[in-house]
Amino acid sequence: MTVGQGGATLTPNTEEGPPSVQQIALEKIVRAAIDSPKNISVQVVTGASDVLIDSFYTSEIDIRDLSTLGSENPPGKAAPIAAFLSEQRIRLERGIPATIEGHRMIHPFSGRAIRNVSGYSRISSDISQFTLATQSGTIVTTFQKGNSVVTVTIQSQNGEVTSVMRQ
Ligand SMILES: [Zn+2]
Repeated sequence: MTVGQGGATLTPNTEEGPPSVQQIALEKIVRAAIDSPKNISVQVVTGASDVLIDSFYTSEIDIRDLSTLGSENPPGKAAPIAAFLSEQRIRLERGIPATIEGHRMIHPFSGRAIRNVSGYSRISSDISQFTLATQSGTIVTTFQKGNSVVTVTIQSQNGEVTSVMRQ
C-alpha cells in the first residue's frame, strides 16, 4: 500500500454520530501520510514471523498482531497504526535512515501519535525481556491517562502476539 503522493484516499464511513476527538486524530495522521510530499510506502503483512505488530526498519505492519491486540486502549489497534504511520512519514520526510539510531530519533513522535489517538501517554517501555532477532519475549509498557496508570504486558513468539495483559 502506497499512501503518499495521492496513492490512497480516505472516504467517509457510514457509522452514525460525529467522529470522536480520537477518531479525528487518527484521520489526521493517515491524511498527513497520504498528503506527504514523500512516497510513504508501507507493507501490510499478516502473521509475519519477523514483524511483531510493526517494523520501523522494513516499514511493515502486521494485521494479525493488530487483531490480537484488540480494540481496548491501551494499546488498542488504532494507536499502533497511528504510531507506525507517523514514524514512517517523519522518517521519510526528514531523510532519516531505517536504523536503530534512526529509530531512536523518530520514536518520540510515535508517543505523540499514541497520546492523540488513544488518550493514553506512553510513560515507559521495558524491552529487556524481548529479543529483537527472534521477535520473541515480553514487552512491558506503562501508559497513563489522568490518574489512571495501566501496565500492558505483551507476550510474543516469532513475531506473533501471543497474549496481551492489562493491569
Ligand atoms: Zn518506534
